[in-house]
Amino acid sequence: MVIQELAERRKQLWDIAVKRLPSGTLSQLGVKPGTLLGYKAAQVYKTLKTKGISTGDIECRQGWLVYEAASLDTDLADRLWDVGFRDVDDVDDQGMTALKKVYKYPRYGPYSAQRSFNMSWLIGKGADTRLSPVICEYTALHFLGAIFGRLSHRPRDPPVQGPSNFEIVMNLIMLDDSRHSCRCYCSPGGCTPLAVFLSELIKTQGAFSYTESIAIDGVVEVLSSLSPKSPGAFERRILPEVLRLLTFKTLGITHTCAHHKVLRSRLSFRPFDPEDAQEIHEEEKDMIQELDYLVLVFTSDYKRLGLPFGEFLREHWCNRIVSKSESLSEEQKHQIQEIGVILEWTVESRLMQGPWIILNDF
Ligand SMILES: [Zn+2]
Ligand SMILES: [Zn+2]
Repeated sequence: MVIQELAERRKQLWDIAVKRLPSGTLSQLGVKPGTLLGYKAAQVYKTLKTKGISTGDIECRQGWLVYEAASLDTDLADRLWDVGFRDVDDVDDQGMTALKKVYKYPRYGPYSAQRSFNMSWLIGKGADTRLSPVICEYTALHFLGAIFGRLSHRPRDPPVQGPSNFEIVMNLIMLDDSRHSCRCYCSPGGCTPLAVFLSELIKTQGAFSYTESIAIDGVVEVLSSLSPKSPGAFERRILPEVLRLLTFKTLGITHTCAHHKVLRSRLSFRPFDPEDAQEIHEEEKDMIQELDYLVLVFTSDYKRLGLPFGEFLREHWCNRIVSKSESLSEEQKHQIQEIGVILEWTVESRLMQGPWIILNDF
């Protein structure tokens, strides 16, 4: 009832403004069709008053972001959306949007469910994630990737059924190309939101050996619930990243990427020392070349065998990675070196490529 009344009054204010104010003033004030007035309602009211235009019994002296006010209650957010507040990127005088605020100033610690629900709600309704600040190298999508990946291993309590708009957000996580400045062969070119999601997902299976079916089952179960909307996205993005991260882990290569830690319920990010990273890369160069090689081989095997992804991981990837780690044939060693030559492989140049670039060259 209160919401209906608010909507009604905002609609009347909008009507008066559109009838009485010149178009230049309207666009300055951010009055646009298709949405009720949010934060700017107070400024519109003030402008009308200054010009001596009557607003009847409507008063609006204080601007506020409606979706910030609804940040603890997604049902309330739904109702505000339904009555016509459609501008989820509404900006206040400090240049903050509701998404920026909930991301930058969480009320209950980094992993609070409400925070991820609210961010998902806003992003699902079209909030521009490029506007959200980068915190500890995380865009809003990296952050949600970390949360979803971390929570996805709990089949009884998955965020998969939790936040509204989960599918829309997960789809953005899978396709978004913003990157960390990390320098690690788990994600050459810097971690994408998808890489962060997968790292967290795989990490949650950390108690198991990666070649044990239980860990694979967990990963496969989550992955098979994802269906990217963009054609070819599975083979182009998800497949190479999953194969790379699982193989990376199983070969025992050292991560030199800097991911978040939660300290005293705050998100913190300690970059990996670049000199240490370089030393590790040189020491593990053979394994890294082997990783590149194996990812190529697995990708091509996947296309050739045409098995469902879960079966491919369980039957083919597991067997091959186990037999491989026992001994590498002379022919394989030769192929690895050849690939190294073909790609003019150097530690630094390889890091600048994404995991899929190398696959397209194959
Ligand atoms: Zn990273
Ligand atoms: Zn890494």
